Amino acid sequence: MNIGQIFKADSANGSGIRVSLFVSGCTNHCEGCFQPETWDFNYGHLYTQETEDEIFAEVSKSYYDGLTLLGGDPMEESNQRGLLPLVKRIKAELPDKTIWAYTGFLYDRDLVKGGRRYFEGVTDELLDRIDVLVDGPFVLSKKNLMLNFRGSENQRIIDMKATRASGEVVLHELNN
Ligand code: SF4
Repeated sequence: MNIGQIFKADSANGSGIRVSLFVSGCTNHCEGCFQPETWDFNYGHLYTQETEDEIFAEVSKSYYDGLTLLGGDPMEESNQRGLLPLVKRIKAELPDKTIWAYTGFLYDRDLVKGGRRYFEGVTDELLDRIDVLVDGPFVLSKKNLMLNFRGSENQRIIDMKATRASGEVVLHELNN
């Protein structure tokens, strides 16, 4: 897995103060995407154990609410596999921190069993540890600068804990 950037003290991509990790690679190719350079899976630099340790140490600081995964698309297969150890480590050792993720795929179509980005032994492990998932492609004709934490009106801010518990998509209270 390659990554483009790590933003520290980010308040634009999720609630509170966050570390934001931009992974490389996206096959959604949305018209109007604000960072098409990140579509390339080779963009940026290699994510290593040292990168994981750096992110973990940063998120550990008391003033952070948690980690946000974005890209590129964290739900591409190589990115799901690359991110899972970090996500597991944060949830095991820093259970009060929240994890947000952004994806151009649709949760209940693409990330569930039989979906095009569902991988046995990986996707459920990842989604069970994500607190909030912002899903759906960026749609230029539905762009709205007034929205909380997303770019177009079709995108959803999903409460993953409630969604995984009920089996139905439950929107987060910030989805307004
Ligand atoms: S899913 Fe995100 S990164 Fe991928 S093309 Fe769409 S807006 Fe760009």
